[in-house]
Amino acid sequence: PEDPIQDHRPRLLIMGQRRSGKSSIQKVVFHKMPANETLFLEIWDFPGQINYFDSAYDSNMIFGDYGALIFVIDAQDDYIEALNRLHHTVTRAYKVNPDLSFEVFIHKVDALSDEYKIDTQRDIQQRITDELADYDMEHVHLNFYLTSIYDHSIFEAFSKVIQKLIPQLPTLENLLNILCANSGIEKAFLFDVNSKIYIATDSSPVDMQSYEICSDMIDVIVDISEIYGRTNSYRDDFDQSQTDTNGHTGDYGTTTETANDTSSLIKLNNGMILCLRGVNRFLALVCLLRSDNFEKHGLIDYNFQCFKEAIADVFELKRRNAERMKHERMG
Ligand code: GDP
Repeated sequence: PEDPIQDHRPRLLIMGQRRSGKSSIQKVVFHKMPANETLFLEIWDFPGQINYFDSAYDSNMIFGDYGALIFVIDAQDDYIEALNRLHHTVTRAYKVNPDLSFEVFIHKVDALSDEYKIDTQRDIQQRITDELADYDMEHVHLNFYLTSIYDHSIFEAFSKVIQKLIPQLPTLENLLNILCANSGIEKAFLFDVNSKIYIATDSSPVDMQSYEICSDMIDVIVDISEIYGRTNSYRDDFDQSQTDTNGHTGDYGTTTETANDTSSLIKLNNGMILCLRGVNRFLALVCLLRSDNFEKHGLIDYNFQCFKEAIADVFELKRRNAERMKHERMG
């Protein structure tokens, strides 16, 4: 019997040729936990021993269920064959599930110069667009990302992919915008702590440097609290959740019962403050603000508390809807 909540978690399929980097990506992004604890994630070698489009395989079953298909292309290798596969996959999958989002990771770009990166992306994008146009499929939209496991780009790309699959995203963004505006915060990210994927951010533009420093703060705090923290460090909370008897393991919405009061502050030498607040078992808010704005930290604390309650409401609502749907289905 499937858990209705797990049923509604975003499903991802990662495809790409052998050695393109799929398992490395999974290891880097989800090293803190098994991937199937946060997201329903599957990895398929392509081509492998099986031809997925063989009539023996039901392509409805393959593509009908997923929210996104990530296609990994090794940018350091000759990618012509990979592009053929991509084109073939997209045309087949689109027919089965036109709502599927197609995400192309142009991967292993760490060895390429900036100029060469841009050229490679342009070349890949051009070729695939032309191919699709030849088959009257120019309306199918593909998203491209330059990724490497050796920097933050893989997290950034994953965050963007996941965000599209989170139905509460507009609400979360709105809440973050309100929090930022009322507290003098320049940038705020809501992170899934275990994967370091941010599931939402306020609508001001993301610059890579702010993202990297906020993401590094997660590592620092999680490591420190694992070693020195009290029992409600993230990892302990997560361990608890695995034995959670109500079966909601791994869902953001199970968290209302356990408050997470992790809180940390780092003053940067450029006059900014980096601030982390635990939201619940899985989520943490990390923000950047000017230190003069932090003088009103009573106000910020208050606003943050409101934010936390609003987040709890958002996911509680989701949980109740899922339960209602389950009851309706059962009769
Ligand atoms: P898979 O067969 O698609 O799962 O590919 P693997 O994850 O086994 O990766 C194949 C090889 O590519 C390994 O030697 C990895 O170390 C290497 N690799 C994976 N990601 C990157 C990356 O971002 N940059 C570089 N330079 N090498 C990578």
